[in-house]
Amino acid sequence: MASTRVLITGGAGFLGSHLCERFLAEGNEVICMDNLVTGDLRNVEHLFDDPRFHFAHQDVTEFIHVPGKLDYVLHFASPASPIDYLELPIQTLKVGSLGTHKALGLAHAKGARFLIASTSEVYGDPLVHPQKEDYWGNVNPVGPRGVYDEAKRFAEAMTMGYQRYHGVQTRIVRIFNTYGPRMRLNDGRALPAFMGQALRGEDLTVFGDGSQTRSFCYVDDLVEGIYRLLMSDEPLPVNIGNPHEMTILEFAKAVIDITGSGSKITHRPLPEDDPKVRQPDITKAKSILGWTPQVELRDGLERTLAYFKKRIESGESV
Ligand code: NAD
Ligand code: UDP
Repeated sequence: MASTRVLITGGAGFLGSHLCERFLAEGNEVICMDNLVTGDLRNVEHLFDDPRFHFAHQDVTEFIHVPGKLDYVLHFASPASPIDYLELPIQTLKVGSLGTHKALGLAHAKGARFLIASTSEVYGDPLVHPQKEDYWGNVNPVGPRGVYDEAKRFAEAMTMGYQRYHGVQTRIVRIFNTYGPRMRLNDGRALPAFMGQALRGEDLTVFGDGSQTRSFCYVDDLVEGIYRLLMSDEPLPVNIGNPHEMTILEFAKAVIDITGSGSKITHRPLPEDDPKVRQPDITKAKSILGWTPQVELRDGLERTLAYFKKRIESGESV
């Protein structure tokens, strides 16, 4: 029997590269499609010797041609860190709208099941806490983060359109803050920023007074949740994230502790529209997928630290 073929857009990024590994480990053939705008070929170069792995350098906002059959299309291409999507606002809007349209059109043509990487940002600066999937959100469409949040909200609507009007089997995962190896040290997100600063012995830059909260999920837990969702029958959005909520100040202190750094904490202005709280309600994922996160924060931070140290030892600047 021919093997299952999976297309992963954004496959050379942080999450995409972990998904490529997971689908290969499940015995599938994987096509990793990426234009490398925020990704890095080094994230997948260890897969190049596997004959079931293929890399396609392509912008998914252009027409996508993939020869042969496809069983699954996972659309993960998009700038994802606030620094990246503020630098690339139009590309972010295009990949969420045109890119999602192209990826859905391809899934429709191939009879493949489609999964979109959505985000907790669809809830914006939430007025409901913790966030459940039936909350419609509090997003400022014309604020700086609107380019990302609205692109993802449009992507969800487009996905539901293809499900309802074309009968495409679709899945929507709302991903909450995830961390782990292969994040870029300079992508500006809290974890790489803090670890890089701690390793350089610099002060950690906490934005605002640090009382805003986030809930951090280790990448292996996220990948397991996504895999289960793809294999499930659930057509509506599902939150995947770790409900362990903490303030950013507590998070910065945890990084200082784990690195054993002598760094102190310094405060910088809070970016515009920075959500004040964020915590996933994962009741739905627990009940329909039997999924709960397994990796404790300390364990996940240690694994991520080991990765960053290795990168730095191999000559990468921090
Ligand atoms: P990332 O930047 O590491 O990966 C994104 C990848 O998409 C990169 O390799 C980039 O080069 C590629 N890409 C961007 N635009 C493209 C285009 N037009 N054509 C082809 N490739 C393109 O980010 P990540 O953290 O791995 O995020 C992956 C996905 O998950 C994104 O869609 C993001 O919105 C979503 N997400 C991530 C998180 C998180 O905590 N990491 C949270 C919520 C949602
Ligand atoms: N943050 C911070 N210092 C940094 C980077 C981020 O205090 O150097 C804060 C940021 O303002 C936000 C939280 O950490 O409140 C998480 O930011 P991140 O960019 O990781 O993700 P977000 O959840 O905002 O998309």
